[in-house]
Amino acid sequence: MVILGRQGSGKGTQCAHLVGQYGCVHVSTGDMLRAAREEGTELGIAAGELMDAGELVPDDIMNGIVAERLQKDDVLSRGVLLDGFPRTPDQAEALEAMLGDGGLTLAVNLDVAVEVVTSRMVERGRADDTPEGIARRLELYEAQTAPLLEWFGDRGILEVVDGVGEEDDVFSRLRSVIDPLV
Ligand code: AMP
Repeated sequence: MVILGRQGSGKGTQCAHLVGQYGCVHVSTGDMLRAAREEGTELGIAAGELMDAGELVPDDIMNGIVAERLQKDDVLSRGVLLDGFPRTPDQAEALEAMLGDGGLTLAVNLDVAVEVVTSRMVERGRADDTPEGIARRLELYEAQTAPLLEWFGDRGILEVVDGVGEEDDVFSRLRSVIDPLV
């Protein structure tokens, strides 16, 4: 499954609960890029600059990273929870090609308003959470990622879950849309 939601919508927190509940592998492209950056790989350095600016890493690079990750044994045996990918229509098309027919079970949009995520991101104070970075990422989300909601909706696999409220309540809402499918 795929989890969508603005940066700061609580996706990371809920992904930890989802992995505990369903045993799937959490693949966060943001975490992968941050790890590459810490290791100082060529990809990590190039991606780090884009991340600080709030820009997206190019689709072909992201598609390659994810295609490679999805071939690993853990994903093949336990299934995957994708977080932060796809982020553009091109990435969604690439994902569909990677997974094949019926490979995508569900896309959940964890819905939290722009004003709420902005204040949450300011509070968490991550290195790439500069005011300019936050604004740019939210702008790109509306432009590039929000159209994906329609893309998943067209395939009949989109569920929208209200992401505002207590962590446990949000998790219960997620379970109520996932449980019927597993
Ligand atoms: P995240 O942790 O998902 O908010 O990602 C942090 C940053 O990593 C983003 O602002 C982008 O610069 C980059 N990034 C993560 N995932 C992707 C993706 N699927 N496509 C392009 N850039 C990405």
